[in-house]
Amino acid sequence: MSEATIFEKIIRGEIPSYKIYEDDETFAFLDINPIAVGHTLVIPKKPTRNMLTSDAETFLNVMKSAHMLAPRIKEAVGADGINIGINNEPEAGQEVFHLHVHIIPRFTGDGHKHWGGSPYESSEVAENTQKKILELL
Ligand code: AMP
Repeated sequence: MSEATIFEKIIRGEIPSYKIYEDDETFAFLDINPIAVGHTLVIPKKPTRNMLTSDAETFLNVMKSAHMLAPRIKEAVGADGINIGINNEPEAGQEVFHLHVHIIPRFTGDGHKHWGGSPYESSEVAENTQKKILELL
């Protein structure tokens, strides 16, 4: 069995956290290095590496808690908007390998930038991409 992650230790109370919410399936606490005040992490109690390894029920439980918490966090810290983020695998920025949803309050003029996109180089590339995905559905 793999070693418990820091988030499992937080759920068990072995490591302190600023707990925000808990139910039978999920747990939420303030991120220790917040992007903005009120930055919260929502996690399942059932350990799973990330969204890609999660069963749908576990993932939906986490999203249900995030859906309940986000507007309340927004109001509590007086934010103007909220970003929801999930990093899956190191290449996508994941550092703790226990599924977690970031709830990140946003403020007018806070200066955080979204990643930029650019158009597909041709409609053929877009159609090929669509085809490859559809083949797996
Ligand atoms: P990610 O890069 O998506 O894996 O995010 C991991 C997040 O966990 C980071 O934003 C960290 O600041 C946060 N984090 C790591 N250790 C703790 C901790 N002990 N308590 C609260 N947040 C933590």
